[in-house]
Amino acid sequence: MDISLKQVEYRYSLGTPFEKLAIKDIDLEIPSQMYLAVIGHTGSGKSTLLQHLNALLRPTSGEVKIGDTTVTSNKKPKGLKPIRQKVGIVFQFPEHQLFEETVLKDICYGPMNFGVSQEEAEKRALKLIKQVGLPESILEKSPFDLSGGQMRRVAIAGVLALNPDVIVLDEPTAGLDPRGRKEIMDMFYQLHKEKELTTILVTHSMEDAASYADELVIMQKGRIKGRGKPVEIFSKPEELLELGLDVPDVVRFQYKYEKQLGRPLSKTCLSIDE
Ligand code: ADP
Repeated sequence: MDISLKQVEYRYSLGTPFEKLAIKDIDLEIPSQMYLAVIGHTGSGKSTLLQHLNALLRPTSGEVKIGDTTVTSNKKPKGLKPIRQKVGIVFQFPEHQLFEETVLKDICYGPMNFGVSQEEAEKRALKLIKQVGLPESILEKSPFDLSGGQMRRVAIAGVLALNPDVIVLDEPTAGLDPRGRKEIMDMFYQLHKEKELTTILVTHSMEDAASYADELVIMQKGRIKGRGKPVEIFSKPEELLELGLDVPDVVRFQYKYEKQLGRPLSKTCLSIDE
């Protein structure tokens, strides 16, 4: 399912003294099955942008197209349910939204709320619990008896249980240790490939953006500052460093030494892993 944004602008608390412009002039095409990373400083508009991707927010002006559905300031789609089902958002610390007595009930809650039978929902839960790397026996446990990492996987299974075409990940590894981060990111990559999902990742980690995404979008002060493949974006590290963004160590190393040397480093030098 393709998503496109045309000249999207969003203002919080429109028409009040607290009115605040959050994003502006957003033109963005996200083709089906792309893995897109959105990077940018805190306050650059990433979170506001992603809430437009399943109509949690409607643009103040401009147009958002989610598959066949168009959302504008005065055009509320007839049914929001199909959009919410097709575009799943994994918010930061999604485990905070767990509430049922058992893991099974928690994963089934979403699909059953969308009219899926209990039998079908349980079938999905059984399959998903394994796909998120947890043992089947966990389904009967209370989500509150699990470790933080396990809770997060259960919450992710809950979003996937709606069988979305698009998954939006807002800093999905926040608060995890480096090993847990890599495991979760690898898991999402595998799901992206296996389920042919369109994946949109908001992240502060340039390593993750560079490792997993097909393309990157850089946000600055509510606008899209640049877009390209990781190799294109990281070939101009000065722009990222000027924006105060982190860059992978190897890129930082290259930039620093090329500046000192006044010439590009040789390819051999850059291919040394150590
Ligand atoms: P990011 O996700 O990149 O940190 P946000 O989308 O959260 O950025 O914020 C973009 C801008 O909108 C910021 O200036 C922020 O202060 C403002 N903003 C975000 N949420 C609200 C809100 N609920 N009310 C008013 N302003 C907000």
